[in-house]
Amino acid sequence: MQSEEKKTHIEAQALGVLKRFFGYDSFRPQQQEIINALCSGRDCEVLMPTGGGKSICYQVPALILPGVTVVVSPLIALMNDQVMALQSCGIPAASLHSNQTEAENFDIIQRTLLGQIKILYVSPERLMLEIDNWVGRVNISLFAIDEAHCISQWGHDFRPEYTQLYRIKELFPRVPVIALTATADKLTRADIVEQLRLSDPEVFISSFDRPNLYLSVIQSPQKTKKLNQICRLIDRYPDDCGIIYCISRKSTEQMASELIDRGYRVGMYHAGLSAQARAQAQYDFVHGDVQVMVATLAFGMGIDKSNIRYVIHNNLPRNIEGYYQEIGRAGRDGLSAETLMFYSFGDVATLKHFIAEGERQQINMDKLSRMIDYAESGVCRRRVLLSYFSEPCHSDCGNCDNCLNPPQRIDGTIIAQKALSAILRTEEQVSVNLLIDILRGSSKAEVISKGYDRLKTYGAGRDLDAMAWRAYLSQMLQIGLIEVAYDDGNKLKITEMGRQVVFGPQKVTFSKYFPEKFKKTSKEKEQRKPRAEGTVDDKLFQELRAIRADLAKIHGVPAYVIFDKKALTDMCLKRPETREEFMEVNGVGEMKADRFWQHFTRAIRQFSAKNPK
Ligand code: ADP
Ligand code: ZN
Repeated sequence: MQSEEKKTHIEAQALGVLKRFFGYDSFRPQQQEIINALCSGRDCEVLMPTGGGKSICYQVPALILPGVTVVVSPLIALMNDQVMALQSCGIPAASLHSNQTEAENFDIIQRTLLGQIKILYVSPERLMLEIDNWVGRVNISLFAIDEAHCISQWGHDFRPEYTQLYRIKELFPRVPVIALTATADKLTRADIVEQLRLSDPEVFISSFDRPNLYLSVIQSPQKTKKLNQICRLIDRYPDDCGIIYCISRKSTEQMASELIDRGYRVGMYHAGLSAQARAQAQYDFVHGDVQVMVATLAFGMGIDKSNIRYVIHNNLPRNIEGYYQEIGRAGRDGLSAETLMFYSFGDVATLKHFIAEGERQQINMDKLSRMIDYAESGVCRRRVLLSYFSEPCHSDCGNCDNCLNPPQRIDGTIIAQKALSAILRTEEQVSVNLLIDILRGSSKAEVISKGYDRLKTYGAGRDLDAMAWRAYLSQMLQIGLIEVAYDDGNKLKITEMGRQVVFGPQKVTFSKYFPEKFKKTSKEKEQRKPRAEGTVDDKLFQELRAIRADLAKIHGVPAYVIFDKKALTDMCLKRPETREEFMEVNGVGEMKADRFWQHFTRAIRQFSAKNPK
């Protein structure tokens, strides 16, 4: 066949497979090109953000090509989820790893050799163990290396067992290999190609933008305010779930118990728990009734749950890469999702402490400064993020706190002078909290006992509340007027530039502080609209959701494996009453249509009889 003709043929086949097995009508950006390249025998390197749709890039070729596709994946939990999801679409998939009995593994090897498996997931160590053995007898059409950055020492998640994977190309030089990752800088990218010995690979780099994620940051709220804010967010999504990331085990436990006290269904995950407790927590989050998972950073790798509607950072993350990966776990179904980050001076102190104790201090310190810049930024947050990943972004996003409530600029000279002169008069011996107490004229014991109530600046800042002071002090830190002596009880020190403001003509500009109550409203209003609580559509949605829950129980899989929220929403919209109409729904492939159309269309018919469209 001519190459153009061949390409058209592959494209038609690919679209057919996409609809038939996955129930989707069209490819996302880059997916089709990647599939074309693989089906014509090219190696590929693919960089796509979490939720971008990497799996389809090798799952569709797996179903077009004649033999088996072998997928190398570092996470057993992830493998099982993927296998389950594929099977529910009628695709013969299986996995080989050490968490299964050897009898099970043996059975899967036999079925693979007989050509009964189309997609085989395998851990890297397992593949290397067997590559000289039976693997050579399998008709392999494609190798996919998931989380490919694990092969590089430059990546943030190096795994030694990945370094042996160059043997794939050695033993199977003619089988195309696709390497996939959601995070890789230039150095890591080149390293992946080299270490896997990819031959003249086609490189695909997708946009890292996730326009459906709402980005917001709140500075230093008091504890109860913060908790109220978190609860408001959870309450906005009563039918869905989210994750709260905390900085330490202790704060994870505290947060979990506060939320349990308030009646939420909470899961908890941190490195201090036993492996079994962690696996259970993960299982409950995926399959069960957990509403919100409170966790340290260790949680979430390999969580392929599409209906996570919010990710909250209780503290400042260590770097933008990690932050981006964590918020990326929300809204993988493409529907809107919210992210909220809190941060405070205390977080910066804690993180600097962690860094000082670890390796690669300079790099980590630089990464932390970029994170702080992001948190304190007054411009569109998406622009800041995308520019960090060297991706041009030509307009404001309209879906972040700074876009919805652009900071108003004010002359902050007098505010800054009040704070600076108070710091001077205490001889730079106070921390943020104490300074605010002095400025606001508090009669706390510590203020009185140290005689700070006799200072000229005592009470000079009564016109602003404590939250406003926090926000402005944080900006002063950011501008470089003051520093925090992290090695000396977090006391505030005045910089050279700060001195020019107290004594000289130097002016200061601040972003005007608005209380959060005021700031959040626009997003909250907007979020409430589409939920349309109690409307006809919502009632139907709840009915379909109940049917989905029953089916999930019967089939022993998580609800989203039956249908995701997008599919249910589309059903409400289209109200299919026949099998043909049911097939029109986004996310309904042949297998799922056969299995489930009667359950859903029956309910829809009954509903429509009582509630015409
Ligand atoms: P990644 O591995 O890149 O994090 P996934 O492969 O898990 O992302 O895909 C994320 C979600 O997007 C999944 O729910 C998947 O079914 C969905 N998806 C992928 N490709 C398409 C498509 N072409 N049309 C609709 N949904 C898609
Ligand atoms: Zn924006």
